[in-house]
Amino acid sequence: MKKFLLLSIAISVVFAFSSCKKDKDNPDAVVNFGYVSGKVYTPSGVPIPAASVFVDDHGEIYFARTDKNGYFYLRVPEGERELHVQGGDGSMFRSVYSITVEADEVTELPDNYLKISQAVELAYIPGAYDRIETILIDSMGYTADQLAVSDLDNPTLMASYGAIFLNCGKSGVLDSAKYANMEEYVMNGGNIYASDYAVEYLTGDGYYTVNLNDGGSAHNHHGDVPNNNMRAGCNTPEIGGFIDDATLCTDKEGPSTMVYQAEIVDTLIQAFLGKTHIDIEYDLGAWEVIKDLTTPWEILIQDPTTYGPLAARMNIPTSATVRRQLDQGWVTICHFPPGNPGNVQTITISVNALPAHLAHGDYVGSCLGGAGTIFFTTFHNHVQGNVGPDVYQMLQYFIMNL
Ligand SMILES: [Zn+2]
Repeated sequence: MKKFLLLSIAISVVFAFSSCKKDKDNPDAVVNFGYVSGKVYTPSGVPIPAASVFVDDHGEIYFARTDKNGYFYLRVPEGERELHVQGGDGSMFRSVYSITVEADEVTELPDNYLKISQAVELAYIPGAYDRIETILIDSMGYTADQLAVSDLDNPTLMASYGAIFLNCGKSGVLDSAKYANMEEYVMNGGNIYASDYAVEYLTGDGYYTVNLNDGGSAHNHHGDVPNNNMRAGCNTPEIGGFIDDATLCTDKEGPSTMVYQAEIVDTLIQAFLGKTHIDIEYDLGAWEVIKDLTTPWEILIQDPTTYGPLAARMNIPTSATVRRQLDQGWVTICHFPPGNPGNVQTITISVNALPAHLAHGDYVGSCLGGAGTIFFTTFHNHVQGNVGPDVYQMLQYFIMNL
């Protein structure tokens, strides 16, 4: 034991100049650093790549991101620390663990110890062709309530969910009240994931129109016969929806096919998957091809040769989301590391820690801007279908980053 102590002291002296800093509150005190490593999982034990892992020391953030296998290695000031593990911006998926960091030592946390919990309630609306809930619930081990299209008449119920997942092939009819409720939901910080035909929730389903010659049977965009009262092209706005048709226009013209080597445009998804291209199988024909896509939508995945954007994200431009998180004692901020302001991080912290961050120029809200986020994928997400491992992991990314 004595030997060990002597050795520790010796190491501390050697590292005195390389691994210490001055304590802000007490400039004469020296702070030593240690290291923490571990793997981050969902409740069911699925490793989470690209998760945020950090310690907040009076506004100074010691930050690491998990690798493709959910592993991280983090340098932290010694002492009793709170280790935050978060998926996405931490607003929906996060946990806190108390750890002890010894100077100049690596604390290896046990496997299957760090699990990211869900901080808010989630919901989904079933579809005929997709089942995102098989990934969210069955595979990742989170929980979500099943809603019906008619529940979109209830804004209070909707507001109780951090995200609502909308599956392709809805059963039910949308109308102006439901579109208005969905708009209010995302403006207030609610998040939406929609796949393929679920674009109808965003840009309109056609049932909402009056004088439909075809009885309002389908949300067919341009390319239809002119007399069915649908628009003839992306220049003519679809009736219904709450997303500006000028920013997103789709058409059910995709064939059953393999899209090889689609480009991953988003750099975080590249890091998450550890690759820049991905093969995507479209197992059913007549999928919604994105014909037009403009800001505020961002392309996440695209096929540069034939089908254009395959997955896209939109951040709703408002900051009303903040109040909801503050009510729970947590707040999502854009953190500017002092001395390295280019390396911004969106994290969720205790409101008690907020003043220290505001003091060095952070702001409340995501670095990406906006309130709610909408993900739209043209491809399917049912695990029982032909979702490959890459697409599966990407869907996991979309879920955690809503
Ligand atoms: Zn900060």
